[in-house]
Amino acid sequence: IPHVVEPFEQLIYDQQQILEIDIPRQLPPLASDPFSLKRILTELLNNACKYTPAKGKITVSVRINSDKIQLSVSNSGIEIPRHEMQRIFDKFYRIPSNDPWKHGGTGLGLALVDKLVSYLGGSIQVESGSRHTTFLVELPIMSDGK
Ligand code: ATP
Repeated sequence: IPHVVEPFEQLIYDQQQILEIDIPRQLPPLASDPFSLKRILTELLNNACKYTPAKGKITVSVRINSDKIQLSVSNSGIEIPRHEMQRIFDKFYRIPSNDPWKHGGTGLGLALVDKLVSYLGGSIQVESGSRHTTFLVELPIMSDGK
């Protein structure tokens, strides 16, 4: 996981955002497809970098909770209105008013995340308020031999 975060560090620094990483030293081996996991985190971080203002904060945290890994990517910044929370996972859907910096995008990032999370047998939740947005992904930790 730290390797996935690393490429974003320079961008975050350049955009004057603050990065906080909270990942346990010892992570259990994840039998789930590491490429999918990497892609999920990359897409969520990509969004956090895009939708956080300068001086804003991005937090990546990982928690192990019995048989699940909880991955959360949180950022300060723009609120995702409640009525948009399902639609942001649709292919090509973007909230135009949520992009004051005009980064643009394909609207595919979260659709991909959604598909990969279900492929891995997990779930994703989004929580957003006037000052922050958090994406929480829960994935099963498969035991050896599965
Ligand atoms: P791309 O995937 O090509 O980067 P995108 O960011 O527009 O494009 P998605 O990642 O699918 O596409 O996100 C869909 C929409 O959800 C975004 O256009 C944005 O409006 C909203 N969104 C996603 N992440 C955040 C976030 N962290 N904070 C605020 N809005 C967000």
